[in-house]
Amino acid sequence: MKESDIRNVNVLNEYLKLVEKDVKNFFDPGSFVAVKCPACSGGSFTPEFNKIGFQYVSCQKCRTLFVNPRPPFETLNKFYSDSPSTGFWVEKFFNPMAEARREKIFRPRAEYAAKIFANRENIVVGDIGAGFGLFLEELRKIMPANEYIAIEPSTDMSHICSAKGLKVKCMCLEEVSGLDGRFDVLTAFELLEHLYDPAVFLSKAFSLLKPGGHLLMTTLNGLGFDILLLWQLSKSVSPPHHLNFLNPESAQLLLEKTGFEVIETATPGSLDWDIVESRILNDSAPVDRFWKMVADKGTPAAKQELQEWIAGNKFSSHLRVLARKPS
Ligand SMILES: [Zn+2]
Repeated sequence: MKESDIRNVNVLNEYLKLVEKDVKNFFDPGSFVAVKCPACSGGSFTPEFNKIGFQYVSCQKCRTLFVNPRPPFETLNKFYSDSPSTGFWVEKFFNPMAEARREKIFRPRAEYAAKIFANRENIVVGDIGAGFGLFLEELRKIMPANEYIAIEPSTDMSHICSAKGLKVKCMCLEEVSGLDGRFDVLTAFELLEHLYDPAVFLSKAFSLLKPGGHLLMTTLNGLGFDILLLWQLSKSVSPPHHLNFLNPESAQLLLEKTGFEVIETATPGSLDWDIVESRILNDSAPVDRFWKMVADKGTPAAKQELQEWIAGNKFSSHLRVLARKPS
């Protein structure tokens, strides 16, 4: 897979400019809250860089990269529901690529989930931050007998989910009530990085799961290849959206602290090298000369092997975690 298969880079750049404008209108640095490490609660961190007014630090204990101080929960909610850049993202960035993303991301994801939960029938599956409902739709094609619930705070997107015949809770996970112990499986894809407080979110997910229920999530790995190489120039390091960059170890730590058993952490990413290479070729990104040489002289097979090595050794920035609530 190539980055251009799932992202229109020009539209992404336009979107990032719009975000910068929104940041000035929606965020008041005076209201930002100092926090501890979102993964290990440690209070010692190293300042790393400032990006459009947001300070990133890394935890000295677990190496989680995070925004600190950060905008309060309410400000983030308002930004996500009302900002022009959010509307642009749905209309111009996600929508035109939705079918391509279904093929490249959501279907493989559903196939992976179906394999894990294959021996369980008539289960209740909830997707948190369900968006357009693509994951649940794809999973329903493979496992039609299950009950599917989309948990999606955006009114527009929850209507899209309803139209697809999914049950919908139009709210944040933190606001869901009366469903404790109801779910066999909860999924949260590319969500944890956005949250004001990942620990609160995971506690809520824990209480909604049945004993023995599973949580499957993906998030950005702050110790991933393209993020470490490009660092503050990485387009994944995009405030105010991406506040938390956990890593395989700190994600495990946080889940265990919440009460989960971690079954697997993996980084099945396929874009790290492609992202770095396009930044070298298109934007003259100032990375080490070795990587410039790989971009220039590396054969397609060498580059593919490099990507497989990155993914296979937990060095990709795409982190996937499967955890279980003890029975
Ligand atoms: Zn930490």
